[in-house]
Amino acid sequence: MNPMALPAAFARLWLHQRLPAARLTALRERLLHRLLRDAYETVPFYRERWDAAGVSPEEIHTVGDLARLPIVTKTELRAAGEKALSAALRGRADLRTLRTSGSSGRPFTIHELPEFRVVRRAAFLRALCAGPYRPGRRLLLITNAGERPPAAWLGWRYISSEVPAARMAEALESFRPYCVYALLAPLRRLLDHYRSTGRRPPRPQAVYTSAESLDPLVRRRIETLFDAPVLDIYGMTETGPLAWQCAPGGPYHLAEDTTIVELLPAPVPGRARLVVTSLWRKVMPLVRYDTGDLAVAAGGGACACGCRFGTIARVEGRIVDCIRLPDGESLSPYAVTLALEEVGGIARYRVVQEALDRFRVEVEPEAGPGSGLEEAIRGALSALLGSGATIRVAFRDSLDPPPGRKFKVVENRLQEAGELCAS
Ligand SMILES: [Zn+2]
Repeated sequence: MNPMALPAAFARLWLHQRLPAARLTALRERLLHRLLRDAYETVPFYRERWDAAGVSPEEIHTVGDLARLPIVTKTELRAAGEKALSAALRGRADLRTLRTSGSSGRPFTIHELPEFRVVRRAAFLRALCAGPYRPGRRLLLITNAGERPPAAWLGWRYISSEVPAARMAEALESFRPYCVYALLAPLRRLLDHYRSTGRRPPRPQAVYTSAESLDPLVRRRIETLFDAPVLDIYGMTETGPLAWQCAPGGPYHLAEDTTIVELLPAPVPGRARLVVTSLWRKVMPLVRYDTGDLAVAAGGGACACGCRFGTIARVEGRIVDCIRLPDGESLSPYAVTLALEEVGGIARYRVVQEALDRFRVEVEPEAGPGSGLEEAIRGALSALLGSGATIRVAFRDSLDPPPGRKFKVVENRLQEAGELCAS
């Protein structure tokens, strides 16, 4: 790989976020036309789908026209197998295959070319640079990518999210990173580790989080432990960063030059289903790909950081994990976490909807199950879920999920239970 490819791509993306609206639109449309033409000509999955829908890529002129094409899901792409790949590119020797577990835990195989990986990495670097990180500064990455050799000029060091929390803490304390980037699951384990040892980690300039929607309790615990701002980056392996925060608690800037994010009607009022088109994926294109996530739109306007891209207020979790109430209303997972935010004494919790009117709350208390804790939890949730809801509270020593299963703060099990669920 050309060693200048990443700095060059980063510089291009950095300039894109400052483009005037008309030039950004022109750039997006040019990339979109190329993507749709290539997908139609070389990817049987898309050609068949679009033919069946009676739409030709020639008819898609603007980003708004995209809505005429069908939405695709991960399940459909998984079932399509080789048909989801470009016949022109799938034989390339430098094609890389990777498997992501996704939030469902079911593996999804994605194929990509080095060109896409450069764009994804550059987009990630841009998201970091929206905060205090700068290339060359020490960055500790706690990810599921394993322990890769450090990228010297970037100043990065990787540690696997699978190692015991004590080893992550050791890496933090010996490396003393300028900034930390970590998935939420290992961060939760680090929080538990420092709580039980009573030690404190070295203070970074910022902690960047990723991979799941960030609930307020965990955000506050990370900020308190590290005494540093938390900046969240929302994205998926298959698309790269979709949106990022430049200030704690602020809106998320959408990666408008690498993706097209559509906010479509969702089963929860005021919330949107997030559908994405990746503008740079070639061998396995993602056109109107349903993320399954719920987002809240935000007002536009230029940001003090200089980025002119559109924004979303936040991501609120998986649509399949929305809580369904007996009156037909739905609540986002985030709404449930907000209700529990004010209850003190909780280190970690999870809320499972078992039936329309039955919920189980598992709680890892900060210092033993105090007498009022159970009542406070039940009170906070009853106000949200209705007085008719049965809420069982169970205290646990650890809420670590079994290996291979992702931790979900809010989980809807209605479908498993055979009950009707918003989808
Ligand atoms: Zn900004």
